[in-house]
Amino acid sequence: MDTAFDPRRHVPAPAELHGRVIAITGAGEGIGRAVALACAEHQAQVILIGRKVAKLEKLHAEILARGWPEASIAPLDLEKAVARDYDQLADALLERYGRLDGLLHNAGILGTLAPIEHYDVPTWCRVMHVNVTAAFALTQVLIPALKKSADASVVFTTSSVGRAGRAYWGAYAVSKFAVEGLAQVLSEELAGISHVRVNALNPGRARTAMRRAAYPAEDLESVPLPESLTGPYIALLGPASQGVSGGSFDAQSAPAAAAGAASSAASSS
Ligand code: NAP
Repeated sequence: MDTAFDPRRHVPAPAELHGRVIAITGAGEGIGRAVALACAEHQAQVILIGRKVAKLEKLHAEILARGWPEASIAPLDLEKAVARDYDQLADALLERYGRLDGLLHNAGILGTLAPIEHYDVPTWCRVMHVNVTAAFALTQVLIPALKKSADASVVFTTSSVGRAGRAYWGAYAVSKFAVEGLAQVLSEELAGISHVRVNALNPGRARTAMRRAAYPAEDLESVPLPESLTGPYIALLGPASQGVSGGSFDAQSAPAAAAGAASSAASSS
């Protein structure tokens, strides 16, 4: 792994993703939406994956109206999808594009914040399923399309609570630890036998619905907009990270440490 690579330093060129086909889960909202727009702006053909088609259609129209490469929509509810849904998505993607150059696993759910002793078991299963198992299943069906690319990149979305345990973050934290592990295992498996690299990226604090749910008392105005964090995503999804695999990166520097309760409110999830 190239340890000198830091996606935070990357300034994307206007047509950096020209000719690349990039699929993004959870594209309808929050960070996924911002990254989808940024990828299209930098000339990628984006596949918008999500469960709410109306949001994806709006985004598709916005990309079209701006004159960027036309996107496509792939409805997929990661909580409910069965094998046939994954296969259909992979078949449609291969038929239309013939390959996949980038896959961003961005969709995720928070579940509840609660001590392990009292954590609701069905919620635990739901969070682990959407955040980990569905990402695994989608990756698995898309590996053949990724292998057809001359330079493909898979990016899993992690979190600071997936690197060091934090009380009450329950299934969400454990799911992000799992995502880090999944990225490492897959990176090793694909090294040397394909041109597919695999990394994890922690966006850090971002002004989204998930952040609001995790920190209801926080002044959201102090939290960076998702649009300000897209450079590192482009760095990892595009040619800038060629040869970089098995890493776990940050999209922003950790906020300055503050005392007591303020420090947990300033934490990245
Ligand atoms: P968000 O605004 O809540 O967006 C989450 C996205 O995931 C939405 O597009 C949502 O689709 C999609 N999603 C949820 N359940 C789904 C399902 N069953 N099937 C398909 N899509 C589903 O969250 P965000 O803050 O942008 O988070 C994006 C990623 O960054 C997550 O992996 C999160 O863990 C990570 N992260 C966020 C922060 C932060 O401060 N925001 C910090 C660290 C890590 P709908 O629109 O249909 O609900």
